[in-house]
Amino acid sequence: MFKINEDYLKLPGSYLFSTIAKKVSAFQAENPDKKIIRLGIGDVTQPIAPSIIRALHSAVDEMGEAETFHGYAPDLGYAFLRDAIAENDYHARGCDVQADEIFVSDGAKCDCSNIQEIFSSDCKIAVCDPVYPVYVDSNIMAGRGGTYSTLTETFSDVIYMPATETNGFCPEIPDETPDIIYLCSPNNPTGAAMTKGQLQVWVDYANKVGAVIIYDAAYEAYISEENVPHSIYECEGARTCAIELHSFSKNAGFTGLRLGYTVIPKDLKDGDVMLHSLWARRHGTKYNGAPYIIQRAGEAVYSPEGKAELKEQIAYYMKNARVIYDGLKAAGYQVSGGVNSPYIWMKTPKGMTSWEFFDQLLKNVQVVGTPGSGFGPSGEGYFRLTAFGTYENTVAAVERFKSL
Ligand code: PLP
Repeated sequence: MFKINEDYLKLPGSYLFSTIAKKVSAFQAENPDKKIIRLGIGDVTQPIAPSIIRALHSAVDEMGEAETFHGYAPDLGYAFLRDAIAENDYHARGCDVQADEIFVSDGAKCDCSNIQEIFSSDCKIAVCDPVYPVYVDSNIMAGRGGTYSTLTETFSDVIYMPATETNGFCPEIPDETPDIIYLCSPNNPTGAAMTKGQLQVWVDYANKVGAVIIYDAAYEAYISEENVPHSIYECEGARTCAIELHSFSKNAGFTGLRLGYTVIPKDLKDGDVMLHSLWARRHGTKYNGAPYIIQRAGEAVYSPEGKAELKEQIAYYMKNARVIYDGLKAAGYQVSGGVNSPYIWMKTPKGMTSWEFFDQLLKNVQVVGTPGSGFGPSGEGYFRLTAFGTYENTVAAVERFKSL
């Protein structure tokens, strides 16, 4: 008789965005004439930049010729992409990260949920609250978390580090010592970003207590302020305590192409064992590499044309962020984020819960956002809006908010 992994039963019934999608579909089915504007899910809307499309076409053509055909990719990624990443994302910023410390993958979601596998099951994890729900859920699936909490129950093996109005949405060092610390900056969903000084405090702490930081830099491309680091390796000592995750989804619109990478410095060790070796072993066993054509597209992200085109794309989304931020503020809402991030974090009016506000917005003005409580207990009473829509839809959504 088979037995299920009972840890799955400790998870919320469905993944946050599946619940939203179901509610929106049900509403649309009942109201087919209403036009819904979606500022909820963090998917991009701008097409892939022309220079990246050219790289894709040319890689596709290569696959049709015996001399240039590519089969299985090297497990850790093609050298042309790992070199481009090392050069542009690290050396150009003065960070000591080498190409062979970069593991190319099909996206940050898989990496951030799989990385916990290389740690002992009794490690205590700490997460910002609110944050991307995948960090906690993937640890629950792996058996970390004696009891899982909904909003009303306690969840003992995970330390929640509240990021609230009081601390400027930047988590503080917890009282209890964690073994693994998930940091996401710029943060999804609050849009808050840590300054280099704030991040250095975490790096020093992790080195002191022997913890590892899993640093999710998925929104790094949206940073506009000088004192906000683009990589944790800008901080001194990060090579001995930090793993960094990157995605090509938000900087280059690869949500449908799928590409990401993880950095594990060779100096990050438990005794004599490099975490780098464990992750390489895991990649070798469980992953057969991101497709050649997608890695060529990733290489084009770092070409001069690619960089120029993507700069424009980010500016387009950040203009939307400004529209949302300014519009809602003028309409009397309390908002933050939107400066180093495509996310705007708003307080729900009149003490409504996040889901009450979601339902009201959908019913009355047909705008979809994401309830803050889906990102952790401290997200209750908040709502996330994203700047990833089209400019026209964003302007229209803000007008609808004003009419509420
Ligand atoms: N990390 C964070 C913080 C995210 O918000 C997301 C997606 O929304 C991801 C990772 C997933 O990125 P990818 O599309 O590369 O899997």
